[in-house]
Amino acid sequence: MAVEKTRYLLGEDDIPTHWVNIAADLPEPPLPPLSPATGLPAGPEDLTPIFPMGLIMQEVSSEPMIEIPEEVRNAYALWRPTPLFRAHRLEKLLDTPAHIYYKYEGGSPSGSHKPNTAIPQAYENAQAGIKKLVTETGAGQWGSSLAFACSMFDLECEIFMTGSSYDSKPYRRSMIETFGATVHRSPSNLTETGKANAGSPTGSLGIAISEAVEVAAQDPNANYALGSVLNHVLLHQTIIGQEAMVQMEMAGEEPDVIVGCVGGGSNFAGIAFPFLRRVLAGQANTRFVAAEPAACPTLSRGVYAYDYGDIAGMTPMMPMYTLGHGFVPPELHAGGLRYHGDAPMLCGFVKSGHIEAKAFKQNDTFDAAIKFARTEGIIPAPEPSHAIRAAIEEALAAKEAGEERVILFNLCGHGYFDMQAYDDYLAGNLEDPEFSEADLEAALAALPEAPALT
Ligand SMILES: *Cc1c(COP(=O)(O)O)cnc(C)c1O
Repeated sequence: MAVEKTRYLLGEDDIPTHWVNIAADLPEPPLPPLSPATGLPAGPEDLTPIFPMGLIMQEVSSEPMIEIPEEVRNAYALWRPTPLFRAHRLEKLLDTPAHIYYKYEGGSPSGSHKPNTAIPQAYENAQAGIKKLVTETGAGQWGSSLAFACSMFDLECEIFMTGSSYDSKPYRRSMIETFGATVHRSPSNLTETGKANAGSPTGSLGIAISEAVEVAAQDPNANYALGSVLNHVLLHQTIIGQEAMVQMEMAGEEPDVIVGCVGGGSNFAGIAFPFLRRVLAGQANTRFVAAEPAACPTLSRGVYAYDYGDIAGMTPMMPMYTLGHGFVPPELHAGGLRYHGDAPMLCGFVKSGHIEAKAFKQNDTFDAAIKFARTEGIIPAPEPSHAIRAAIEEALAAKEAGEERVILFNLCGHGYFDMQAYDDYLAGNLEDPEFSEADLEAALAALPEAPALT
């Protein structure tokens, strides 16, 4: 008997040649970011102190397809194309007529989807003659990805890691150093922001971002790099969805629903936008489900308004669903999903009804992660465990309805550096942090003055 078809594999020649720019599919131009200083639309020239022109042009482009440079495709070949799996054993466990597929991005050099954007960001900066990239990292996923990418293009890399992660995730730090980057515990005594925040020794992403931007802005040979939220980051991730589209064709199936977790929105956009383009063209009616934590429910509970991207109010104001830039989400093991806002491009599609949002409690996502690990053999990161939970609920709804629903989700990273979280869950010590209505109201009261969005 033939072996059950489980993995759908592509070769190097199938690495996409272009990124999909969904901005070209919008009926109207996207709302502009606004300068924090003047409140007026921020243009490309506002970004030149910290980003190279190659990336700025991608950020504002309205071309439908943007060519991927050959050197970037050659670096992608170290781990791409990534496999698409049919989750036969999970389907059996759930006893569902649904067909479940997942795209696995955890086989990359740093174990997540983030090198998909770190590589082209390092490449464009190297092309522009930049010598060093500076960034922040929380859990360490982005820091280790950028450190890897800088080593590919002979760039120096300096990383400000939030104090609490620096102490609790020593092996992510070792990984960053193995790739040749320098890591500072944030708040550091190397920047004005760091010194001013010495009283918050555990640090925060907001402080680390400000430290990194300060260093990059003062050094003409250095630039800053961001791992999510911006248009060019979402653009780079669309290789995930393009590959998945070819692999679903190999499987002879059309996804009815596509699921991903959302922190800033990049891995979700990466798998969803190539399929969404077909929906916008009237060629498909795929549903899209964005999964987020109940303790930081940006898309399900936030307001649609202009807000800053950072706590200090230094970044441009962006049109997005937000819990308020001053909202500090409770500690979660899915550190990558603790962000008060989301990518403006993604938020626009939630607003227009093309994308649904669902929020899940921490213990429910770990229950899903354990089911997945024990059937499929991969221990997922806490972030995509939200997507797994959403996919399982879709499969159970299909069973209820007696439908052969085809579900595709993005497994955007493995959890091998997150075993403390699994320990806590298995010992019954994992909390379900409460979402504070009072904190939300206080943070929303402090939204910046800007034109209202309808
Ligand atoms: C960074 C990260 C996320 C959250 O970022 P998005 O931009 O929403 O994708 C989710 N999962 C993993 C594994 C990450 O590293």
